[in-house]
Amino acid sequence: VNVLFRPIEKINAIVESYPKGIAGFRRYVELLETEPDVQDSPNAKDVGHLQGHIRYRDVTFGYEPGSPTLSKINLSIRAGETVAFVGPSGAGKTTLCSLLPRFYEVDEGSISIDGMDIRGLKLESLRRQIGIVQQDVFLFAGTIRDNIAYGKLGASEEEIWEAARRARLEDFIRSQPEGMDTIIGERGVKLSGGQKQRLAIARMFLKNPPILILDEATSALDTETEAAIQQSLAELSAGRTTLVIAHRLATIKNADRIVVVTEDGVSEQGRHEELVEAGGLYSRLHQAQFGTA
Ligand code: ATP
Repeated sequence: VNVLFRPIEKINAIVESYPKGIAGFRRYVELLETEPDVQDSPNAKDVGHLQGHIRYRDVTFGYEPGSPTLSKINLSIRAGETVAFVGPSGAGKTTLCSLLPRFYEVDEGSISIDGMDIRGLKLESLRRQIGIVQQDVFLFAGTIRDNIAYGKLGASEEEIWEAARRARLEDFIRSQPEGMDTIIGERGVKLSGGQKQRLAIARMFLKNPPILILDEATSALDTETEAAIQQSLAELSAGRTTLVIAHRLATIKNADRIVVVTEDGVSEQGRHEELVEAGGLYSRLHQAQFGTA
């Protein structure tokens, strides 16, 4: 199956309903032929725009039966709040976030948004409300315009430019002789890591979901790019419930709340200063990772 010959609508429908894992974008071709494990329940509801109040209640989940990755997680996230998840590698930060769009189904407990159990919502409807920005940005061979418009089918030219502007991608586009018609991808203009991130952010401005999941890049961009992207992301997350799988000190410091995830579950939560003050795991992790308290 050659995904590039499919109309964008089709690709979008597939990506919106891909069944497995937060890293699913990478595997989109495989997924064309995969039957999703997670399906709509018979009475699944279509919901309009959600506020984004998220609640995990005694959530237990494991990839293999009998060995839970997450045990009895309880977490309440206010609409509009930015929560940074930190913790040792493999503790389950990514897993925790991937349960929200129902890439996997909880084994026990429940997750609700605005008081509604997510299992009672249509997958399409649920995933329309959740935007994901991750390290591996999914780009297809096509114009910059099409790649941005992927965030919202049928977006107007004006909306696309507005999204590009807010993601600070406008100058780059204007510097290209073909502008929005510039072909990117394997045979076209190669984008830098920072430009790809901005494109992903532009898509999210178009998609305009009430809930965002940001899977921060572990590999560093240059400092200037980093600062600009942090700023775009801050603007993007304003007014949206944002879950960040955090690796950056700036993100962590600016979060409304830091949630420390360990193998035993949520071990600490609070603001940066509070957790440093408390002298627990966070302060040690923070010391080890960033060297300063
Ligand atoms: P990191 O900071 O390294 O990204 P994390 O805290 O996000 O780690 P997860 O990626 O959620 O941790 O992984 C939690 C555990 O679940 C790990 O032991 C990991 O090996 C395992 N795991 C993750 N994805 C899968 C999968 N698709 N199938 C089986 N096991 C998985």
